Amino acid sequence: MPELPEVENVGRHLIRKIRGYRFEKIRINRLDVLKSARTTPANREARLGVGGRLDTFHRHGKRLALEFDDGRVIEFSLGMSGHLIVEAIGSEETRDHAHLIWTVRHPRNGRTRRLIWRDPRRFGGVWAWVDMKTMIDQKWGSIGDDALQVKYESFRDVIKGTRRSIKTALLDQNLIAGIGNIYADEALHRAGIRPRRMASRLRRSETKSLHKAVQEILIEAIEAGGSTIQSFKDPEGGSGRYQSAHAVYGRSGESCHSCGAVIRSMVLNGRTTAWCSECQK
Ligand SMILES: [Zn+2]
Repeated sequence: MPELPEVENVGRHLIRKIRGYRFEKIRINRLDVLKSARTTPANREARLGVGGRLDTFHRHGKRLALEFDDGRVIEFSLGMSGHLIVEAIGSEETRDHAHLIWTVRHPRNGRTRRLIWRDPRRFGGVWAWVDMKTMIDQKWGSIGDDALQVKYESFRDVIKGTRRSIKTALLDQNLIAGIGNIYADEALHRAGIRPRRMASRLRRSETKSLHKAVQEILIEAIEAGGSTIQSFKDPEGGSGRYQSAHAVYGRSGESCHSCGAVIRSMVLNGRTTAWCSECQK
């Protein structure tokens, strides 16, 4: 499942490839991937960016939004398997599960490309918004602070305020947005904290280390192009490199790079959790 670093890389990739391109038309192959704009066929195309030029992207936790020069916004939740792919027109390759296909054109040099939304497992979705303010008021404002942006004081306050395990708290998108199973396990290992510890009982020094570890690990993962796991690949169909840097995630039964002990795993609140009993107290 794509997490914050993978989503950040999708956004950066789209901007590199098609910033300034005009969205000329859209083909909708599956209506139910649209979570808004579905019931208003009259202006559906306009709501999905047609006529606008891609200006920038925004990300909050694992959510991604493309903003157009006229303020319109299309929001994507990648879910388990959502992909945004840019490809050249004329590549005759037909893709399975190409649910939405925009044709986009550079306004000066005329270069034309396709932007494709595909989501084979359809846990993700696409929303149309009139502008960023509306989206933030109605949606992004009610989820937790973004894990990469959250200041220590806010991080400490939400951690202090929950009596669940720290691992479960890190995964709660309403507390802090953008941390999934991989990076929660990795951050807890780096901070030396057992996943089962009660969040509200962490010492100040531990909360500080954890805040630092979360942001370091997310930045490292973004720079490495994210982790390639299960169905997720980067926007060019390649692999991220961060999975080879994992200290605990996916390494149950192997030895800890820091201390040599065997990495253990358990199921905590329904999620497989890997940790080192020597490094994490
Ligand atoms: Zn260890």
